[in-house]
Amino acid sequence: MELIIQNLSKTYSNGVKALNDISLTIPQGMFGLLGPNGAGKSTLMRTIATLQDADEGSISLDGIDVLQDKQSVRERLGYLPQDFGLYPRINAETMLDHIAQMKGIGNKSERKELVASLLNRVNLYKDRKKGLGTYSGGMRQRFGIAQALVGNPSLIIVDEPTAGLDPSERNRFYNLLSEIGENTIVILSTHIVEDVNTLCSNMAIICMGELLMQGKPKDGLAMVQGKIYKKSIDKSELDQYRQDYHVISTKLIEGKLSLRVESEAAPGNGFEPSQADLEDVYFSFISKKVDPITI
Ligand code: ADP
Repeated sequence: MELIIQNLSKTYSNGVKALNDISLTIPQGMFGLLGPNGAGKSTLMRTIATLQDADEGSISLDGIDVLQDKQSVRERLGYLPQDFGLYPRINAETMLDHIAQMKGIGNKSERKELVASLLNRVNLYKDRKKGLGTYSGGMRQRFGIAQALVGNPSLIIVDEPTAGLDPSERNRFYNLLSEIGENTIVILSTHIVEDVNTLCSNMAIICMGELLMQGKPKDGLAMVQGKIYKKSIDKSELDQYRQDYHVISTKLIEGKLSLRVESEAAPGNGFEPSQADLEDVYFSFISKKVDPITI
């Protein structure tokens, strides 16, 4: 199973080019789509999810023309959007039953069994009678996954799922996602590099509507390995360093700025070589399009 995106472009009526000739092949397993806010991730996710049209290009899911044959895609799709509204007074069990009914599961006992198994799977069975409005952020996201899984989708899209989750909730969510990623295509759109590092076997980086990189995280790492140097400087020196070096990211640590620069040769001047990580890969690509980011 494969999702093939070819030459996809989208310009909004206000003139913003949200997608600029994107071509991507997404295989089975967890796929991380990384990009800063405004990169075009949601536009791409919503287009794949048949919720909006592109101006140009094509998307094919195992031979199905996604942009034309929307109904066939919807039957195979599970979608957890970025902002997903919940009816606060309805409990999880009733809501899932309702969603299953809408997705065409007419048999009541079949639905009951499905709802119970999904609630167990996302570890919400004991909270199934609680109103959705009382759920924590992590519980809401796990419920979101349960509703996306109704109907056994072969393509699952999750848009910025870990934003706002605390570390333990994030961990639970990671475990859940990696379980379902085994037999389906799961596209995880995020600006959090750690999400992709932990979960994804394949990835892409987009920024300002353009595809900057696609491949395996280790391919990305190989591109920057041996080229990353670090140095701690005073905040006031930053502008000068930006002029003299290719600064890819800066981090404030105990009042000092820890700089990371990319360089083919050792830059000297007190810089030390540093082991590259996926964040360096991300910032190396992003910094070619936008100003270095302080993290
Ligand atoms: P991301 O999900 O990566 O944050 P989006 O796809 O939401 O990015 O947005 C990409 C760009 O398109 C941004 O500049 C955003 O402001 C713009 N944009 C998104 N939706 C609309 C819309 N409905 N109308 C006009 N501009 C939009």
